[in-house]
Amino acid sequence: MKSDVKNTDSISKCNQHLENCIRDFDWEVTSPEEMLSWASKEFGSRAVLATSFQRSGMVMFHMAHSKGIPLRIATIDTMRLHDETYSFIEHVEKRYSLKVERWHPKNSHIERMVGRFGEFLFFDSKEKQEHCCDVRKTKPKNSMLETVDCWISGLRWEQSEHRKQTAKKATLIGEYGTQRKLVKLNPLIDWSDQRLERYVRENEVPEHSLYAQGYPSFGCKVCATPIRPGEDKRAGRWRWFNSTETDSNDKECGLHYTI
Ligand code: SF4
Repeated sequence: MKSDVKNTDSISKCNQHLENCIRDFDWEVTSPEEMLSWASKEFGSRAVLATSFQRSGMVMFHMAHSKGIPLRIATIDTMRLHDETYSFIEHVEKRYSLKVERWHPKNSHIERMVGRFGEFLFFDSKEKQEHCCDVRKTKPKNSMLETVDCWISGLRWEQSEHRKQTAKKATLIGEYGTQRKLVKLNPLIDWSDQRLERYVRENEVPEHSLYAQGYPSFGCKVCATPIRPGEDKRAGRWRWFNSTETDSNDKECGLHYTI
């Protein structure tokens, strides 16, 4: 069922339909492949698999590709990603013969922010870091979500305490600034690191080169750093805030907050 965002009646009907979908499925026994297949059939081009090219995103992408499930693949390009990430995107596009959608911040937003606070405003305070994440990540993500009724992400409980407490396998979220709802699927939410690594190995899924340098995930240059053995997985994000009183919630950039 495709939504017509201009019509209030249509939005209500679509919201109700999505609520029924969430309620009627037994998501706990639905495999990741079945979830991807359902999303593709139900939403067509209004379903998107959004990834920052961590293993979970690549595993789902590989599952969809090997089962012939057509899905849009998208990423948020903050324009500050590591060089290795840009190279990896090109590698993935070549290997699978596809184009990854790249959602960028608006030039006017970047110019205004950098003009007021400078390129490296995220060092100054938590508020300025969140402002930068809003401009470079959240706003482009919201633009992407305007084009979908189903957002598939690689979020997993093991990634952080915050995610363990808040994330679900399938849920409804609201589109920013509208009454419209959309489905958010996290098909690998209960997968462990070991299970992911095993799938990657056994299925020869391409792997981002920064894993080998100790990065648990890949964000922007400077803000995402490798972690040492025993450190929390989010400890490498905005490392300069680690000595201040932050909890795992403060290490979220707003991308996965339920709206
Ligand atoms: S991770 Fe850093 S550079 Fe990237 S958007 Fe957030 S504050 Fe800005």
